[in-house]
Amino acid sequence: MPIRGVLFDMDGVVVHQRLDFSAIKREIFGDTQGFILERMDGLPEPERRRAEAILERHETAAARTAVPMDGIVPFLAWMETRHLRRGLVTRNSRKSVDLVLTRLGLQFDAVVTREDAPPKPAPEPVWLACRRMNVAPAEVLFVGDYEFDMLSGRRAGARTVLLRSATMKESAHADCSVGSLAELRERMEAEMAGAGGTGFVAGRSDSVSSGSSRG
Ligand SMILES: [Mg+2]
Repeated sequence: MPIRGVLFDMDGVVVHQRLDFSAIKREIFGDTQGFILERMDGLPEPERRRAEAILERHETAAARTAVPMDGIVPFLAWMETRHLRRGLVTRNSRKSVDLVLTRLGLQFDAVVTREDAPPKPAPEPVWLACRRMNVAPAEVLFVGDYEFDMLSGRRAGARTVLLRSATMKESAHADCSVGSLAELRERMEAEMAGAGGTGFVAGRSDSVSSGSSRG
C-alpha cells in the first residue's frame, strides 16, 4: 500500500507541553494511579464535572505555553509539497488543541480529539481521522511516542512508527521506530521512491494485546 498520509499524536510529537499527569491525578483523585480519562469515566456526575474542570484548567495552561517539537514545522511543510494528508489524533480536549494549533499556526487536514471518538488506545479515533482525510488506515503511518499510540494505530490497521524518547525506546506494537522526524522523512522518501527495506511493513493486528503498563 502506498503511503498517502500521516497521523500524529500531539504531545511529544507535534508539540511539547508541560502537562504533569501525576499532579492532575493527585488533584482529582488524591493519588497517581491509572489513567485520567478512564478513571474519570467511572466517577458519579458531580465529581466528574469537578474533575473535568481541573483537567481543563491544566490543559489550558499547558496549551498557552506549548512549543513546537523539533523538526515538526519543516516536516509538515514537506508533507504538503508531497500531497500527503496530515492528521492529528489526541486524547486532549478540542478546546486545548484548538488553542495550541492556532497559537503556533499549525494546520492539519483532520483533527480528532477525545470529544470526537473513544480515546486511544481504541482504534476508533484513527478510523475517524482516516475517514476525514479520505484515506484507508493501511495507507497511513501513525507516529506517536507512547504505547497507546502504537496500540491504537495497530488495532486500526495503520502502520505504526514510534518516535523514540528518553522514556520510550521501543514498543512491541511499533512497525518501526525513528529517532527524529528528519529520519522519518528520509525513510518515507526512500519508501515512496520504491526502495525496499524501509521498515514500513503492514500492521500486524493479530499481535495486539490489551492494556499497557504505565502512564
Ligand atoms: Mg504523546
